[in-house]
This record gives sequence, structure tokens and C-alpha cells, in this order.
Amino acid sequence: MITLREITAMEPASITCDRCGRISNNDPGNFEFAECLSIKHTCGYGSIIGDEVTLRVDLCQHCVKEVLLPFSVAN
Ligand SMILES: [Zn+2]
Repeated sequence: MITLREITAMEPASITCDRCGRISNNDPGNFEFAECLSIKHTCGYGSIIGDEVTLRVDLCQHCVKEVLLPFSVAN
């Protein structure tokens, strides 16, 4: 038998776009927040950027559209 206990967890209250500065609050039904994109990547050995350099970026959907849409592929 498993017994459960209540825990508290941290979640983002908002995301600030690293490109344009737009702030998207984590409110229920806020599609601006839901469509933000966060990327974190740690480069490895042989990377031209640098071994163990961590890249981290948060983008709003408007910047994702401008920057990444050209790289989209059809599903
Ligand atoms: Zn943005």
C-alpha cells in the first residue's frame, strides 16, 4: 500500500523574453505563456562554442515566429 503526502513544487510565475523583453505571466489560459519556448543546451567536447558552455534562452512566441519559423518543417 502506498500512502501519499502533500508536497509543494516550484513553477515559473512568468517568463521574460530574452530577445524583446515581453513578459508572459503564468496565468490559466494565457496562451502567450503557454507558447513561450525555453531552450537550454550544454555544449560538449569538440563544440566550437566551448566544452561545457551552457546556452540558455527564453523566447516569446512572437520572437519564435521571427527567428525560428524559417526553420519549421511540415509534420
Ligand atoms: Zn520576444
